[in-house]
Amino acid sequence: MTTRYIDTRGLDDTRPTFTEAVVKGIAPGGGLYVPEALPSLAPENLLALWEVPYAERAARVFELFGVDVAPQRIRELMAQAYGAQWDDERIAPVEEVVPGLHVLELWHGPTSAFKDMALQCMPLFFSEAISMQQARGTLHDDFLVLVATSGDTGKAALEGFADRAHTRIAVFYPSGGVSDIQRKQMVTQRGDNVAVFGVRGNFDDCQNAVKAAFNDADFNRRLHDRYSLRLSSANSINWGRLLPQIAYYASAYVDMVAAGGVVAGEPIDVCVPTGNFGNILGAYYAKHMGVPIERLLCASNTNKVLSDFIASGAYDISSREFVMTPSPSMDILISSNLERLLYHLAGPEAVRQWMASLAEQGRFRVDRETFTSLRGCMSGDWVDNDESLATIRRVFAETGYLMDPHTAVAWEVAERLRSSNPVLVVSTAHWAKFGADVCRALTGVAYDEELPAEYRSLTGVQLLERIAAFAGGDAYIPRGLAELDALPERFGHVVDAGRDGVEGAVQRWLDS
Ligand SMILES: *Cc1c(COP(=O)(O)O)cnc(C)c1O
Repeated sequence: MTTRYIDTRGLDDTRPTFTEAVVKGIAPGGGLYVPEALPSLAPENLLALWEVPYAERAARVFELFGVDVAPQRIRELMAQAYGAQWDDERIAPVEEVVPGLHVLELWHGPTSAFKDMALQCMPLFFSEAISMQQARGTLHDDFLVLVATSGDTGKAALEGFADRAHTRIAVFYPSGGVSDIQRKQMVTQRGDNVAVFGVRGNFDDCQNAVKAAFNDADFNRRLHDRYSLRLSSANSINWGRLLPQIAYYASAYVDMVAAGGVVAGEPIDVCVPTGNFGNILGAYYAKHMGVPIERLLCASNTNKVLSDFIASGAYDISSREFVMTPSPSMDILISSNLERLLYHLAGPEAVRQWMASLAEQGRFRVDRETFTSLRGCMSGDWVDNDESLATIRRVFAETGYLMDPHTAVAWEVAERLRSSNPVLVVSTAHWAKFGADVCRALTGVAYDEELPAEYRSLTGVQLLERIAAFAGGDAYIPRGLAELDALPERFGHVVDAGRDGVEGAVQRWLDS
């Protein structure tokens, strides 16, 4: 049966299907799409996932959510999404690192970070959805995805959209504001429908320029008239990025049962390093479907707006300063996907009020009943910069398991908040994505200090080789990172910040 989608602010009454919601992205009025009804997964069907490969596990979750794509086609797309580009055929394996603490590794994809779980999948369904609507005659354009990135999302989006039918993608990054590895990952991207531009400025300049291009009616009209293109952001609030993130929680649970780490039916807790709240929301939906998850542990870094919210019921960014951390993908003030959880706990009228208050005053406070429901399933805590590096060092010394700074935040919070339940600690990046800070952690250098002299002149890849040699054991450098110094750089353009810089770059690229 096809599931319809409604919006968290109750303003869109068009009730789109899955593929329609994916193409729309965000609801008119600013709300986010959520399924009208949440499915349940019977215990025997959950446990039966153990017998099938990851792609089939994901396909079954998609089917349960009433996706309007034929079952056979869902399977073809999942086989593509979770295929040979992953460096572990289990796709999202679980490892019990110490008794009771199980790490879910979400970084075996082509860019070695968690975003691949969704971005290897979503563009396939996006492209499929465009084909379907073009065939029906309800859509005539293709889509241009514009991304402003501080580093990692851009690469994952490029890799996901490369050579996908009906789409093009242009990524803008702050020139000089990303690491050697991050820049090389982007400017060596393969694909005939991709472009990458440095921007003279910082990440905010990039983001503002891309936003201004989105809001420029003339630019949108030119794209449509000259190139038959519409703009899309394909960002993390798109339901098409959320749905793939439910599947790995069901998958992890059955893997834990199979490995003997948990008895079938008994509860686990899940601890997630959280930024935009998409990953942990996947766990919330999995819990609602019947995956035996008891508590959701929300781990923040120093930008702890979420753990403060869970502690107090007040979401407040009115006087909060943005802090640099070694876990930049969690550095966030507005955690967009939280809106979906608030909708499920309190309904559309309350969400409308709170979001208006957030926009106008930079804060909102939920009512007592909502706060009680929130506390009923969720706890939160936060870890500062030096603690997170110390956690990498300590866990490596005690267990030989090397993790990245985002995972370290979750590990530390899991240790503090764990009960007698086994905990699934969600690992969102391979350590090699954040080599410089992992090097600081292992050599005992503070976050805000320079690397020891012997490492400073190395390329990013050379630094990883030094760390891998030092760490020994299972430490390896993922292929996509190891080859970076040898790959040709395809994209060297650097453009001025501001709307004209972005629009000019896009237009020259489309004309070339
Ligand atoms: C995006 C990201 C996160 C945060 O995930 P959310 O879904 O935004 O909460 C955490 N760690 C890494 C490495 C990421 O890339």
